[in-house]
Amino acid sequence: MPDHSITRRDLIAATAKVAAVAAVAGPAGAQSAKPAGALVRPVAISSMNGLAAVKVAVDKMAAGVPPVEAAVAGVALPEADPDDITVGYGGLPNEEGVVQLDAAVMDGVTMRAGAVAALERIKHPAQVALAVMRGTNRILLVGDGALRFARAHGFLEENLLTERSRKIWLYWKENASQKDDWLPDPGEVDDPDIQWFIKKYGDAIFRPTGTIHLSACGPAGQLGCCTTTSGLAFKIPGRVGDSPLIGCGLYCEGEVGSSGGTGHGESNIISVGAHTVVELMRQGKAPEAACLAALERVVRNTKLDYLRDEKGRPKNNLLLYALNRAGDVGSAALWAGERSKYAVCRAGSEPQLLECACLFKR
Ligand code: ASP
Repeated sequence: MPDHSITRRDLIAATAKVAAVAAVAGPAGAQSAKPAGALVRPVAISSMNGLAAVKVAVDKMAAGVPPVEAAVAGVALPEADPDDITVGYGGLPNEEGVVQLDAAVMDGVTMRAGAVAALERIKHPAQVALAVMRGTNRILLVGDGALRFARAHGFLEENLLTERSRKIWLYWKENASQKDDWLPDPGEVDDPDIQWFIKKYGDAIFRPTGTIHLSACGPAGQLGCCTTTSGLAFKIPGRVGDSPLIGCGLYCEGEVGSSGGTGHGESNIISVGAHTVVELMRQGKAPEAACLAALERVVRNTKLDYLRDEKGRPKNNLLLYALNRAGDVGSAALWAGERSKYAVCRAGSEPQLLECACLFKR
């Protein structure tokens, strides 16, 4: 049966603890931010919204849980957190106001994977992806088929659209075009939920990226990973991003390392980001160098004018995360910025938020 045992109280306690740690960690440069000393394992790396999640994953691995399961346990925190509007419950919906979730898991020990895409009404899609990996001889289930599979495995259905995410969606819909029937409500911008969103993400783009990827390396160098997301905000119904696609949003190989990405999904799909990073690590690159080289490929593959700025650089951000089986970690982003950070936790240490290496600065 699926594990629904993470309560709101657990979530608040875990988040408060890691927020305190992050506050003392402070900002750091791309290279100098990397933790010094021995590559202690177990270790977990994730996108910046996974500060609590990496700690959970490391604690689980230290207690003997396999890395892929530990990764799924870690990402259950943001999946359940209504304040993370890019993952799971409270995630921003598609253009019709329906929350559709994508998630995948991969086990580097057995080279098995499981994934779900455009899954509605299930709070923990990563757990469903794990069930696909374990309970079928297939890899990816989508839409209604994924929901029916989840039901068969005892997952509970619930409304994932919080009031805050509904209001943000409505604000986007009413302001997206002057040519349709939806009029902006002048009072809406003062709504505390809209203000909360604008303060966090700004008003310019209004389609924030997020997602959590988590790669985990166990005490003996075993690897597993997971990526889970509500996907691109206000997407076309049925659109599937990079997150549940093996080789794109995540990939790991037992003898080499593990990787994943967040940000502009289509760019990551075209360059098969996570697989590229693992392949580069196989050729001898350290995790951070592998992420940077994979992003250089993304830059080369960004040919369409509407995706490029006046200097030919990709307009959207993409972040890649990697660890190798020795326990070394690294991450890189196309663009430097407040959100170009990653979370790392090693056994015996508290989780840290570090700066990604970056190709471009605005
Ligand atoms: N990569 C995700 C997607 O394209 C979005 C994100 O990371 O924010 O669906």
